[in-house]
Amino acid sequence: MSNRTRLLLGDEAVAHAAADSGIGGVFGYPGTPATEIFEWLQKRAVELQISARWSGNEKVAYEEALGMAYIGQRALVVMKSVGLNVAADAYINSALVELLGGLVLVVADDPSIHSSQNEQDTRYYTDLARTPWFEPANQQECYDMTREAFAVSEEFKVPVLVRLVTRIAHSRAPVQLAEPAVVSRGVRTGADRRVSTLLPEYARVMNARLWEKHARFAERAEESRWNRIVRARQPARQKVGVVCCGAGCNYALEAMQMLGVEIDHLKLGFYPAPARLVREFLRDKQDILVLEDGYPYVEERLLGIAGTGPRIYGRSDGTIPASGELTPDRAAAGLAAVLGLPPEPGATRKLAIPPRPPSLCPGCPHSDTYRALNEALENRAPSVVFSDIGCYTLGAFEPYAAIDTTIEMGASVGMAKGAAQGGLRYSVAVIGDSTFAHSALPTLLAAAAEDTPMTVVILDNDTVAMTGMQSSLGSGERLLGALRGFGVAEPHLQVIDPVPKEHARNVRVIADELDHRGLSVVVAQRECIHVARKR
Ligand code: SF4
Repeated sequence: MSNRTRLLLGDEAVAHAAADSGIGGVFGYPGTPATEIFEWLQKRAVELQISARWSGNEKVAYEEALGMAYIGQRALVVMKSVGLNVAADAYINSALVELLGGLVLVVADDPSIHSSQNEQDTRYYTDLARTPWFEPANQQECYDMTREAFAVSEEFKVPVLVRLVTRIAHSRAPVQLAEPAVVSRGVRTGADRRVSTLLPEYARVMNARLWEKHARFAERAEESRWNRIVRARQPARQKVGVVCCGAGCNYALEAMQMLGVEIDHLKLGFYPAPARLVREFLRDKQDILVLEDGYPYVEERLLGIAGTGPRIYGRSDGTIPASGELTPDRAAAGLAAVLGLPPEPGATRKLAIPPRPPSLCPGCPHSDTYRALNEALENRAPSVVFSDIGCYTLGAFEPYAAIDTTIEMGASVGMAKGAAQGGLRYSVAVIGDSTFAHSALPTLLAAAAEDTPMTVVILDNDTVAMTGMQSSLGSGERLLGALRGFGVAEPHLQVIDPVPKEHARNVRVIADELDHRGLSVVVAQRECIHVARKR
């Protein structure tokens, strides 16, 4: 490897590209599979002289990055798929304003739901925001596309999105680095408020301008080096083609190898989709297989472009299963079906890996809290325990079976409040300290103001444990101070120590608060055992 070649994860290649692009800062909230992007930059923050502090949630992260880009610097913001639901308001609105600096948003999707609540596909958000975006197919493209994303952002004065998926983010390959950019880190102000203030009078003009830019993004996509037709030297069928993007392009090549065929394919990496190039590819085809990871996003657009032309196969018609990530086997089976070959010839070798369902670590403080909560809830009915996102979600499994719901960050407190307002006698929310700071503050403020009859159990383990022990913004005394400041009545703000020897007291405290006909908050304070060990 040359001295400018590194063996990098897709996440690390993105981070390296951001560093080489001269960012002034990285912003984000931990979330698999995007966390490593931030951590790579955070480790080098002093050497790179950049700002790298975890934000309270993804919306805050996006807004902080937006502020940095507003004063003329380059900023990177990173999050996982569902994080963009939280940041969507900021992202979609910011597309209209004109930035002085470059803003790149990297979102890592999680097809097959390895560590998320759902399988959502970020690409649909780009339709709402109408911003250009990239989808890398390998680690080199993670680096090159992120570099280019900053240039595109500054050229068009819009945020630019880079979409990753787990397999790209978390696999490693050699990456050839380019020369670092020389960019100013100065502070520029004085931007015209008519292009940065979304009052209806200004916003209508900005909206029309974004549509004009959108036409230019589409033109750029026609010429982009990331969108190209690859003609097979000896095509097995001239009339069959593959359209692929991201990881799907690697699987397309593997599928051809497994089937021993060559097929023309159109590789897409920069969007909005280049309609002329797509039409050129479809012109002499009768059957097109679309290989993409996520929902049938490209497939749906091809159906619109193809009209009554070639038949389009993919996830919509079941040629590729609708749910779950794309794999070489799935791509090969789909291609075999389109070519009329026997199913699954030459499938990849399957490793017999025993399943390892996740569970709370032995000695985890959450297990002691759940034991106490379960006991306190015995003979108290009807009750529902609304839970949230974190290690404690594993309390859904035996032997605890302690929680009834998990929907999204912060939902526990809102749902418990709504259920209490609907008359549920024992309405309980269970939430971690970091998730509480992320998304439950406004709801708790309202519950305190209304003295809603519900019990909120905050599992304060002093870290964001599930994503790798990042620091929590609201734990310990800071958390208690915030709860007092919100107006939680002191007699019903209780702290327990979730250890076996305190079990009897913990049950009593929780039971008393369950019986209180107003808002009560029980904070279970004990460090995650891994944080304690590290300390
Ligand atoms: S990482 Fe920490 S908080 Fe998570 S299950 Fe293990 S001990 Fe509990």
